[in-house]
Amino acid sequence: MLSQTVIAQLRQAVADDGVLTSPTDLIAYSFDGTFEQSLPDAVVLPRDTEEVAAVVRVAAQHRVPIVPRGMASGLAGGAIPTAGGIVLALTRMNRILELDRENMTVTVEAGVVTADLQKEVEKVGLFYPPDPSSIKQSTIGGNIACNAGGPRCLKYGVTGDYVLGLTVVLADGQVLKTGNKAIKNVTGLNLTQLFVGSEGVLGIITEATLRLIARPSFANTALAHFPTLEDAARAINAILAQGLVPATLELLDETAIECIEEAMHLGLPRDVEALLLIEADGNDAQAVGREIDTIAEIGRDSGAVRVEVARTEEERNKLWKARRSVSPSLARRAPNKLGEDITVPRSAIPEAIRRIREISRRHGLPIVIFGHAGDGNLHPNILFDRRERAQWEKVELMAKEIFQVALELGGTLSGEHGIGILKLPYMREALGPLSLEVQWRIKEALDPHHILNPGKVLPGK
Ligand SMILES: Cc1cc2nc3c(=O)[nH]c(=O)nc-3n(C[C@H](O)[C@H](O)[C@H](O)COP(=O)(O)OP(=O)(O)OC[C@H]3O[C@@H](n4cnc5c(N)ncnc54)[C@H](O)[C@@H]3O)c2cc1C
Repeated sequence: MLSQTVIAQLRQAVADDGVLTSPTDLIAYSFDGTFEQSLPDAVVLPRDTEEVAAVVRVAAQHRVPIVPRGMASGLAGGAIPTAGGIVLALTRMNRILELDRENMTVTVEAGVVTADLQKEVEKVGLFYPPDPSSIKQSTIGGNIACNAGGPRCLKYGVTGDYVLGLTVVLADGQVLKTGNKAIKNVTGLNLTQLFVGSEGVLGIITEATLRLIARPSFANTALAHFPTLEDAARAINAILAQGLVPATLELLDETAIECIEEAMHLGLPRDVEALLLIEADGNDAQAVGREIDTIAEIGRDSGAVRVEVARTEEERNKLWKARRSVSPSLARRAPNKLGEDITVPRSAIPEAIRRIREISRRHGLPIVIFGHAGDGNLHPNILFDRRERAQWEKVELMAKEIFQVALELGGTLSGEHGIGILKLPYMREALGPLSLEVQWRIKEALDPHHILNPGKVLPGK
């Protein structure tokens, strides 16, 4: 509970309609994309960096927790105010400040919705590649704070690869500027990348300068059907070993195929263990066509029983429909899903999937696996009914076992969703004591009173 003094100071820090304290508003800001929930004491909606800094100064003075929030699509519980305090929602800070066509950069406020940014830059023939599936429901600030990825990241890299500079409000309310439009910059420690993926525990990102590239004009897509996971893995390695880097190399396992067919009746095969959706893109139509043909050939040589190649935009959309339908299709199977985000070395993908299937069989709950196979980033989704207490208990155990598989195979807990609160219990095993100690030292140097998103990312000492 915040005192009237703190509320009054917050109302001074931002415009009067920027402080919400009614029970309904607090409930609306108590969730993210997970099952977790915790009420804040106040929600503050700043309009610019100066207002963010003023709010942080109030929080620092009274040692009140402050939790930055974009669109709350996070899948790790990072934006949930587990210690109460202030939720600082950046959604009113959604301006595109400067689109510099000559230098191919864009400077934006942190609350810009990623899809809006992409639309704006594409109007002038430029391209911002990172494409999380939540592109319409997430902000650039949230993407930077989680270092979001997506299907295109195999070829183009993740969010962090496009961040040139940031404006960050520190825990004492000072405003730090890092980087600028210069592409090469090794002046001092790389503070820009320190804040990338920091999930709100080191500072509040208020503005970002992002690198853009020229928009590729052509794309060709193929869908390859593999009788076994090993065949699919062999194809992935063979494609990359030939020096081909498709924009997308997405995998759907047989349970994912089953769920999509049940919901959408797209005519997907029911007798294969894996589908790979592969897309090549570029600015030379013939070269892109040749690339997809070579990829299709490699797929067949690696054991694909069928490779569909889209030659028109309509055919391309049809192939993509399978991948885009995964998440909505799962809802027909079970009311709830827990989506994980492990990564493993690419060669370990078949082993990882087989072990995850064994976990599913042993506990009697379905696990659907899809993901960015070219990056070794798998999304095992456990399907269940949360109203059944016994099922929920199993889910927690299954998630733990999935993380164990990732670590045993030389992988890690998260490829793009981050740690938040959900993966905290596994951090010690994933990183070891020294890495955690170094991370705590950084946290304490920047936020000595632990007011910034407390209880996230770093397990207690
Ligand atoms: C259907 C669905 C599909 C998804 N697909 C993908 C995907 O393909 N790839 C992927 O990477 N993720 C995906 N996600 C997860 C999620 O969308 C991403 O993590 C996204 O980057 C979160 O953005 P947000 O604005 O919603 O952030 P929030 O959920 O509001 O916050 C996420 C974290 O970032 C911190 N944060 C937010 N804004 C700031 C800021 N300005 N400064 C400092 N810290 C901040 C928060 O404190 C929190 O820790 C998906 C989620 C859903 C629901």
